Amino acid sequence: MNVDLIVQRPEGLYCPPGDFYIDPWRPVPRAVITHAHGDHARMGNGHYLASQKSEGVLRSRLGADIHLQTLAYGETVDHHGVRLSLHPAGHVLGSAQVRLEHGGQVWVASGDYFVSGAEDHNTTCEPFEPVRCHCFITESTFGLPIYRWQPQREVFDDINRWWQRNADAGRASLLMGYSFGKAQRILAGVDASIGPIVTHGAVDPLNEAYRAAGVALPATHRVTDLDKAALSRALVIAPPSVQGSAWARRFGDASDAFASGWMQLRGARRRRAVDRGFVLSDHADWPGLQRAIRATGAERVIVTHGYEAIMVRWLQEQGLQAEAFETEYDDERVAAEKPAGDVESNE
Ligand SMILES: [Zn+2]
Ligand SMILES: [Zn+2]
Repeated sequence: MNVDLIVQRPEGLYCPPGDFYIDPWRPVPRAVITHAHGDHARMGNGHYLASQKSEGVLRSRLGADIHLQTLAYGETVDHHGVRLSLHPAGHVLGSAQVRLEHGGQVWVASGDYFVSGAEDHNTTCEPFEPVRCHCFITESTFGLPIYRWQPQREVFDDINRWWQRNADAGRASLLMGYSFGKAQRILAGVDASIGPIVTHGAVDPLNEAYRAAGVALPATHRVTDLDKAALSRALVIAPPSVQGSAWARRFGDASDAFASGWMQLRGARRRRAVDRGFVLSDHADWPGLQRAIRATGAERVIVTHGYEAIMVRWLQEQGLQAEAFETEYDDERVAAEKPAGDVESNE
């Protein structure tokens, strides 16, 4: 009889033999953190274990003095007889899947992940690495057949064309996306020769963490560094919470846009009330989720945050043992559906 290596508890996903939690939503003595987004990395835990690459972002978000142990990708530690290692998830800087091995069982908890075709990976972090396991705990943020991302090169071409047109017309281009992950992917993907790039103060410390981790990003400016003429050709990257704010109004007649996987939904675009929506996500789309799940070889799959019921049914139709865990991860869904103004808490 095999014991489950991860179970649900009110505090979060719990490993009974190892006596630790993965991305707990309530404070616990020992927490393994998959990545530094707010709904996965919370304050108040006694001890944190996370990937080496996530250290800068974690400390900048949770405090420099957190009790943090880091592991390189693939490095293993033993805790109460549970062998633990972290593997790239392709989602944001330092994001990791957690592999647990105990009593002949291998379980992998994915956290959030992004997979894509060849030449289309997230260039601002290590690409997703499939890890063989008996049981895979998968996210399902975009687990609906309507979610199919176009190649990201095409998305960046669209963004560049929009920026160039605005610059030629003498208007700034205000592109809103989450400060951590999305903003850096946009920076790494756009054509910086079109004009200057301005970043909001919420984005700057994260850019610094990426640069410190060796990720190449184009030069960025504070809004106060540029004169009016330069601003009229600028691409401005800011969190969604600036929409309608005094900060955003200083760009005058700017064109505004939002970059998110949710922009695939017309309703989300309309609620956002922006000139343009660019479909750009740091999560796997429907085919990506299926490909990633198959690559693990798992016969049992547990689905978290997203369209759990639909994903569970699809997995069962594939002959897999499938169920869902209730979690308190909310990611971009909440942000895209809530009115502007209170959206920066999650991603
Ligand atoms: Zn995330
Ligand atoms: Zn998540």
